Amino acid sequence: MAFEIVTKNTVRDRFKSPERPAIWKEAEEKDWNNWVWQQQKRIKSMEILEKVINVTQEERDAFAQSHEQFNMGITPYYASLIDPNDPNCPIRLQSVPKKGELNILPTDLHDPLGEEKDMPVPGITHRYPDRVLFYTTHNCPVYCRHCTRKRKVSDPSSSAANKQLEEGLAYIEAHKEIRDVVISGGDPLSNSDDRLEYILSRLRAMDHIQVFRIGTRNLVTLPQRITPAFAAMVKKYHPVFVHTHFNHPKECTQEAFDACARLADAGCVINNQMVLLKGVNDNAKTVMELNHKLLMMRVRPYYIFQCDQSEGISHFRTPVDTGLEIIEKLRGWTSGMAVPHYVIDGPGGGGKIPVLPNYVKGREGKKWILRNYKGEEYTYVEP
Ligand SMILES: *Cc1c(COP(=O)(O)O)cnc(C)c1O
Ligand code: SF4
Repeated sequence: MAFEIVTKNTVRDRFKSPERPAIWKEAEEKDWNNWVWQQQKRIKSMEILEKVINVTQEERDAFAQSHEQFNMGITPYYASLIDPNDPNCPIRLQSVPKKGELNILPTDLHDPLGEEKDMPVPGITHRYPDRVLFYTTHNCPVYCRHCTRKRKVSDPSSSAANKQLEEGLAYIEAHKEIRDVVISGGDPLSNSDDRLEYILSRLRAMDHIQVFRIGTRNLVTLPQRITPAFAAMVKKYHPVFVHTHFNHPKECTQEAFDACARLADAGCVINNQMVLLKGVNDNAKTVMELNHKLLMMRVRPYYIFQCDQSEGISHFRTPVDTGLEIIEKLRGWTSGMAVPHYVIDGPGGGGKIPVLPNYVKGREGKKWILRNYKGEEYTYVEP
């Protein structure tokens, strides 16, 4: 018999493009879809932001007092996801300054992850036995208000120059125990394709390097950056993993879907590292919806990070119990693929420490008393 192929809507059709705010309604399609245009038109001043959303007095004050330490920068695309009338819009909380940023708590830390302590050369953090973080730029298309690297990001004076790049590559080359390189920043996709290809080609030429990851938020904040040319370039250096940072289902647009599709079609494996943020994604329903959307975009939820003790982000921090409750409400209730690891980065440089609900109720010798996701008890006996 002949098998008739069913053609119905594609999954892509379930993802929507945002409405363009009035000031960019006239922009040509080719400009809007061009990442260089999006970069050039970034919102950096209150004057422009006022034309896009209804700014509150609190936001105006917070901008005035914060932008010298940590710039505001929002791509027109990401700004188009903001609800112009809701000061608590999750996209807005991540991109528009809030008064909470000005509070520095006594428990806040300047370098919360001790990244500088584990820096053998500027530009490399080598903390774990077999992998390193490699900083290649300090720019990002959108400056996330919750950024844990605020002390570095957006600061032009700390920009990784070519000398630093060469020293980083030389360090990786000399250390044969390194097999995995996390290319980070800022956002490494702020580099040109040529500079990125240079980095990937140098790493691929090292026999001890097995994999690398590109840690980028461009899929979320500037999906236009993932051009067919970029995807074709990356394809030459496989295996390439892409680690991204979606925090809310509203960020899962058709533009983001297409950017992920270009990378996935080029053979990249994409993982998501969500940060748990008060008022943005601090409940199981939002995280479940986000993770379901991510899987449809071929992105695998990898980590949920507890918000770090960085300075000026305390207004985003939730209790650890919130994270535990989210995991409790995911595990078993939905696909295991949609359940990431919940981790706390040990303040001062302890590395990522997993925390999870306790499913072991007790142990009597070879007998393990366990509970499942519904709270029912089971006993497993070892041989
Ligand atoms: C997060 C991180 C890594 C990568 O950790 P994985 O658990 O392998 O994803 C490597 N080095 C540093 C310093 C990190 O903070
Ligand atoms: S993209 Fe990453 S490094 Fe850049 S501001 Fe956002 S969280 Fe910080």
